[in-house]
Amino acid sequence: MDTKLIDALKDRIGSTKVLTDDNTLRSRAHDYWVVANLRAWRGDAMPMPGVVIRPTTIEDVQKTVRVATEHKAPLMPFGLGSGVCAGVAPDDKTLLLDMSALNKTRFIDATNLLAGFDAGKNGMDAEDAVAAKNLTIGHWPQSIALSSVGGWVSTRASGQFSTAYGNIEDIVYDIEAVLPNGDLVTLGKAPRAAAGPDLRHLLMGAEGTMGVITGVTLALRRAPEKRGFSAFYAPTMQAGFDMQRQLVQSEWRPPVMRQYDHPEVDRLFKEHVRGEDALLLMVHEGPEARVDAERAAAYAIAAQAGLTNADPVVCEEWLARRNHVPNWQELFEQTIIADTVEVAAKWTDIGAVYEETVASLKQVPGVVNASAHSSHVYQTGINLYFTFAALEEDPRKMEEIYFECWDRVMKATAKNGGGIAHHHGAGRLRKPYLPMDLGTEGVDLLRRVKQAVDPAGIMNPGNLIPD
Ligand SMILES: Cc1cc2nc3c(=O)[nH]c(=O)nc-3n(C[C@H](O)[C@H](O)[C@H](O)COP(=O)(O)OP(=O)(O)OC[C@H]3O[C@@H](n4cnc5c(N)ncnc54)[C@H](O)[C@@H]3O)c2cc1C
Repeated sequence: MDTKLIDALKDRIGSTKVLTDDNTLRSRAHDYWVVANLRAWRGDAMPMPGVVIRPTTIEDVQKTVRVATEHKAPLMPFGLGSGVCAGVAPDDKTLLLDMSALNKTRFIDATNLLAGFDAGKNGMDAEDAVAAKNLTIGHWPQSIALSSVGGWVSTRASGQFSTAYGNIEDIVYDIEAVLPNGDLVTLGKAPRAAAGPDLRHLLMGAEGTMGVITGVTLALRRAPEKRGFSAFYAPTMQAGFDMQRQLVQSEWRPPVMRQYDHPEVDRLFKEHVRGEDALLLMVHEGPEARVDAERAAAYAIAAQAGLTNADPVVCEEWLARRNHVPNWQELFEQTIIADTVEVAAKWTDIGAVYEETVASLKQVPGVVNASAHSSHVYQTGINLYFTFAALEEDPRKMEEIYFECWDRVMKATAKNGGGIAHHHGAGRLRKPYLPMDLGTEGVDLLRRVKQAVDPAGIMNPGNLIPD
């Protein structure tokens, strides 16, 4: 790394916030992406950032962005590194902007149901802060304790309770960000606006390519009065999808609706296996009368749709275990390469996306598991979260199998009308497949927007936007 650049950073923001020691650089060399972890585990020489900058004020971020622009140096925001699509993949020319020290709760407003956080705030800490006032953000990604509020916005994250409470784009009230020219903007001012395009969406899902998010205001909810559970067996995945469609299209909104295919029931809920059935579990929340009415409606619609009742205790078992974090290294040691891939499709397409993707994954030599569950439900359709696992002793071949599996999920989903990314973002992993969702003209538009916002191309170059 150019010493003039390091000196300029130290000069502008102070030497204690500019770190070049080996341990810090190594700890920020990649995110949670399986392949980066595989390469590190097998001892490959891993590229590392040239310098890690740990801002504690917004001015620090502005000064860093200006130094990066002056030196035409790539700048890569790092939230808490739980991304799974290689959004963080620095090399020795990269200034890595570690947002984790910018982590204050700015305010909690219990009347307007809003809370402001610095972007580096840990998600669980943010939720705990509002829970102390009997409020909730209602955004529960499985990675809640590993991810930052700014990371949620940057990747367009979804929480486990999204069916009623929405995805992050429904929860964000305003976004404060430093643009690549160093300007500070706050986008979003009132509960709704018609003052031109919604510029918050330039930052939402931009994965660090359009600027640095420094603060986020999120909409809150009051803690629910009651929680209830229901669970069902579906003879086929399609039967379960049909029941879920009828339920949400009848205007019921259980925050959690999760439907596991038989292999996943067998792996995750062994005590609840029934033949080859899929298992659908729901969590109902809200005022007592609504929870009771919603549960009654779910049981009635399920019976009409040919589903049968399962023990709702399975919902409590899921709640207790829901934030389990996989340890990739343990799997590699057992010669297993695995990953999850989330997609979404309309109700009329989701059955084919499920059937064809699972069938295609099973054709990959070494694959021992190809399964899926759904977990985010809309009036218009539903997501699927595929899991694949393959046995392979040669760590180099593991990578080939991995990319082959991903390719098959992307192609089978797109061929059947599905969208190739539901909530993990695109990163460098999904980047080649982006035209499947945006079309070539859409990708071209995205490139032109990027060029206008970041003409020097300093913000997370190589991420998200196809070359
Ligand atoms: C076990 C596990 C479970 C997960 N479960 C879920 C889930 O249920 N739902 C879900 O949506 N995701 C899930 N994820 C994925 C991941 O947690 C999310 O993508 C999360 O939002 C990333 O946040 P982060 O702070 O860790 O971001 P990072 O990994 O640090 O960064 C992600 C991307 O955002 C950019 N970025 C980060 N912070 C900023 C900022 N302040 N300004 C500009 N750009 C920024 C980075 O440059 C990068 O491109 C899971 C991941 C793991 C490992």
